[in-house]
Amino acid sequence: MMPPQVTFQIVAECSTTRARAGLLHTPHGVIETPVFMPVGTQATVKGLNQRDLATDLGVKILLANTYHLYLRPGHESIRRMGGLHRFMSWPNAILTDSGGFQVFSLSGLRKITDQGVVFQSHLNGDLHTFTPESTVDAQLAFGSDVLMALDECPAYPVSHEYARESMRRTLRWAHQANNHFLSRIADSPTRHALFPIVQGSMFPDLRRECATALLDLDADGYAIGGLSVGEPRPMSLETVEATENVLPRAKPRYAMGVGMPAELSEYVARGIDMMDCVLPSRNARNGYLFTSQGRVIIKHARYKEDEGPLDPHCTCYTCRKYSRAYMRHLFLSGEILYASLATRHNICRYLDIMREIRQAIISNSLPEYLRCARLAVAAPE
Ligand SMILES: [Zn+2]
Repeated sequence: MMPPQVTFQIVAECSTTRARAGLLHTPHGVIETPVFMPVGTQATVKGLNQRDLATDLGVKILLANTYHLYLRPGHESIRRMGGLHRFMSWPNAILTDSGGFQVFSLSGLRKITDQGVVFQSHLNGDLHTFTPESTVDAQLAFGSDVLMALDECPAYPVSHEYARESMRRTLRWAHQANNHFLSRIADSPTRHALFPIVQGSMFPDLRRECATALLDLDADGYAIGGLSVGEPRPMSLETVEATENVLPRAKPRYAMGVGMPAELSEYVARGIDMMDCVLPSRNARNGYLFTSQGRVIIKHARYKEDEGPLDPHCTCYTCRKYSRAYMRHLFLSGEILYASLATRHNICRYLDIMREIRQAIISNSLPEYLRCARLAVAAPE
């Protein structure tokens, strides 16, 4: 058996919920969990540079998308230039997805077979094939610290019959990906971890069947995919809950593509250690800001001469230096600086929430934290 590549250490557990605070040790640094990972789709978090992220915001791990980087500039090109860390000048850890989600959400024509998925590039229409083995190769070419196994991400809703067929295909792919990964890294000087992905649409029995079968892989961590595909929000939480007691306590669990600020603690309370979401960055660019006092829709006329900061409790550069009135002006003028300042604040807000949650777990006060968070959601604006 291969020694663990990326190790996870639990430092505190909540006595009431399933939450835990931990440390994820990677070749590019130690990450405090629970952690929110900003999304750097094209090897960049839109609007921020790497110094903003690593130095100012303290981001320890970023997510990058295999689908996009495979198509452009290409994984072999990135490998020849020394890997993704060097290419994008990023000193900390990188997690890459398998490409499966984007193939199913972005590409035009696609054909799923037991061998993999043939898809048409959304850039120029060229045909490409992802197999469990080829997506491992692409992610190893990037030099990702944490890789994901190829999965099929069904839309919502699908029939139980289709969800079962699809989940079993994802399971076979996970075994193939894992075998290929183990053979590829046997002689590798760098450590990498491959996380398989639990699927099964929103059917708890299929989720449990999938998670149970994935235990055979003895992976360094497990991802829960197929969320945020259009299902009602409470169902995403129930789906995560369905496999909490199946997945090994000692390994990190990653809920892919969730959630809103108020949901972060709900996932953590259900045993989740890692999350990613485009919401803080995408919403920032669209004028939708998350603050400790609720959301701010910056275009509203009420902010026209509002000289206060976006969030008086936030210590980010945007909140220290600029007013709501100035942010509104930049937004309405379509200025580039707006996107940069707004994204910086929203990502900071997510990271602050995760730090508060982690602190609450360590001081064993997460139940109170959850109560307050739920009250804030229920309160009218
Ligand atoms: Zn701020």
